Amino acid sequence: MEKIDSTENPQLQKVLEKYDIVIGLEVHCQLATKSKIFSSSANSYGNAPNSNIDETCLGLPGALPVLNEECVNLALRMALALKSEIQPVSVFARKNYFYPDLPKGYQITQYDKPICLGGELFLASGKRIGIERIQLEEDAGKNIHVGSTSFVDYNRSGVGLIEIVGCPDISSPEEASQYLKKLHSLVVHLGISDGDMERGNFRADANVSIKPKGSKKLGNRCEIKNVNSFKYIEKAICFEVLRQYDLIEAGGQVHMETRGFDSEKNMTFSQRTKETAKDYRYFP
Ligand code: ADP
Ligand code: MG
Repeated sequence: MEKIDSTENPQLQKVLEKYDIVIGLEVHCQLATKSKIFSSSANSYGNAPNSNIDETCLGLPGALPVLNEECVNLALRMALALKSEIQPVSVFARKNYFYPDLPKGYQITQYDKPICLGGELFLASGKRIGIERIQLEEDAGKNIHVGSTSFVDYNRSGVGLIEIVGCPDISSPEEASQYLKKLHSLVVHLGISDGDMERGNFRADANVSIKPKGSKKLGNRCEIKNVNSFKYIEKAICFEVLRQYDLIEAGGQVHMETRGFDSEKNMTFSQRTKETAKDYRYFP
């Protein structure tokens, strides 16, 4: 198998002779609370489809969300662990998009006033990775496709999440997995999340770009969505760096886009052009 450790992978070594690798991770982490973030339905896995639901997490007209205090407590616990600054005022925002697993047509998340700003995490090497912000939000339901029929299970709809947005301070695939492992061990040991990666309770989006060595200006990034294993994050980033290198060396340009990772083919693939904040029509 191909070596993915950048110190041993000759292809990555070749990239690093001319370019810097820049990686910023966004980690979604499901909060280990008994009930959902804005309603009293159970946050529980493995029950009959659509059994842990209510008018709020289904987005029925007139339903009003009531914030689960324990979700706030867990976000604050994360803030203390990452030396993130707890904000005296924090605002939820509607992020509008249309998808069957999102019954309201918007996700309740945070935008310009997240609950915590800044912070840091140190890798075993002593390298500091900055944290941009920590925000509270709700999870979506789950689409299940069987043949030509699709089903939606809303049991996960409205389960509390924190999103930990890291600064683009990571510079190799293995640093990315070290960062994830450290964060994972923090959330599990602090009781913030069960960290179950197979169920997607701890998942990362990897933003990846390359830039000429030493350049101050960051290159265009691609965002690889929902990678839920330490090994896959290294493989996905490795593939993505080499893809961007080949593209740029051939005189092309990297376009901002959202990509997926195919763990069987060991490659990333284009999903859609990257949405911008405008596309989501955020409002408080
Ligand atoms: P979006 O919602 O568009 O994904 P966010 O601000 O939530 O934007 O997240 C941006 C993420 O991308 C952060 O983790 C940040 O570190 C990372 N990032 C920003 N610019 C770059 C870049 N040029 N290369 C790699 N990562 C980047
Ligand atoms: Mg993102």
